Amino acid sequence: MSQLKTYKKKRDFKKTPEPQGAEKSSSKEKNLIFTVQKHAATRLHYDLRLECNGVLKSWAVPKGPSLDPEKKHLAVRVEDHPISYATFEGIIPKGEYGGGTVMLWDKGEWIPCGGEDFDKTGKLDFILKGKNLKGLWHLVRMKNNPKNWLLFKGNDKYARPAADYDILEDQAKSVKSKLSMTEIAEKDYNFKKK
Ligand code: MN
Repeated sequence: MSQLKTYKKKRDFKKTPEPQGAEKSSSKEKNLIFTVQKHAATRLHYDLRLECNGVLKSWAVPKGPSLDPEKKHLAVRVEDHPISYATFEGIIPKGEYGGGTVMLWDKGEWIPCGGEDFDKTGKLDFILKGKNLKGLWHLVRMKNNPKNWLLFKGNDKYARPAADYDILEDQAKSVKSKLSMTEIAEKDYNFKKK
């Protein structure tokens, strides 16, 4: 079954500018991309997406990532997204699925530590090489609900105590356009209905 079936089912591509996308044939390319999109939907959240098996495995993080290893934030597993979603920034129309402003908040490459299948083990240790997020990170599935994971920073030189530094406040602009959420919301993206 297509990994993108749920993604496509939830969206009307005549109405949303989000990419329709396709699964990438699984090549053995070494560089896997990751992205974090700040998404002002019904509730503001940050979407972490990791390239895996030709799609972007995705988690919605209501509080966003923290550089403080003590701050373990809920990351809700959501449907796989197409690779082409990784550069998406713009406005999902009101009334459509996920309606609201989307900012490309971070992008770069990621490296899984160990070859384990995280969907089986419920645990993923990984390195991020983004503009905002760097170093070791962890995702651990919670026992109560298989959709609920915890995202938290590993202890390394990129870790910062939350009392000293909040990267979400400090880095509030797009890594793609340098625009703020308000500026993205006001921009005319000229999306034409297909
Ligand atoms: Mn989202």
